[in-house]
Amino acid sequence: MENLFIKMGFKKYRAKQVTNWIYKKGVEDFQQMTNLSQEMRDILDKNVYIGTIKIVEKKASKIDGTEKYLYLLEDNNIIESVLMRHSYGNSICVSSQVGCRMGCRLCASTIDGFVRNLRAWEMLDQILQIKNSLENSLPITHVVIMGSGEPLENYDEVVKFIKLVNMPEILNISFRRITLSTCGLLPAIIKLAKEDIPITLSVSLHAPNDEIRNKIMPINKKYPISPLISTCKQ
Ligand code: SF4
Repeated sequence: MENLFIKMGFKKYRAKQVTNWIYKKGVEDFQQMTNLSQEMRDILDKNVYIGTIKIVEKKASKIDGTEKYLYLLEDNNIIESVLMRHSYGNSICVSSQVGCRMGCRLCASTIDGFVRNLRAWEMLDQILQIKNSLENSLPITHVVIMGSGEPLENYDEVVKFIKLVNMPEILNISFRRITLSTCGLLPAIIKLAKEDIPITLSVSLHAPNDEIRNKIMPINKKYPISPLISTCKQ
């Protein structure tokens, strides 16, 4: 943001002001950013835009208040997020891809195959849209990357997203409160372990042995349970 603003001939601190509007106040229109001059708002309007995804449907569970959100992306693809209210805080489960190519038998996300990776901002906006749509701008304390998609197949954008979620200027959520769930892509788990981001890793095991797991999760034929467990320990 700072680089962009400097390139456009503005002072560096303007990036902070705009960041504050977008991420703290939930404002998505430059014209509403009242501490910027009218000239600056017009220049921003003309040269850059703030990408957004739109909530098109929301369903709430009568049992525990869990809310499922359906989003329309700018290219008309659809994804889902879930808001869960726990005693320890509010958690949002985000999608990392449109569809998924991993083919797990138990999962609806993979039925139509893989469509595309989500960009980091599209993952971030799943949280912002829910946060901004709720009264009193509900504090979000936890994030789980467990919606549609295999996050480690979209490695770079997911890592970028995790760092954005953690940034004090954006959501200020501790790495420890961010959970990435994978079906078990070993090389990517090893790569992730080397990043300086102490998040929680979760593995969708779904079966107690290779025989059963092979039948429901094709990835198990490539990366069986035993090497998966030792890689998780690493
Ligand atoms: S990796 Fe996750 S999203 Fe993809 S098919 Fe398996 S369970 Fe579904």
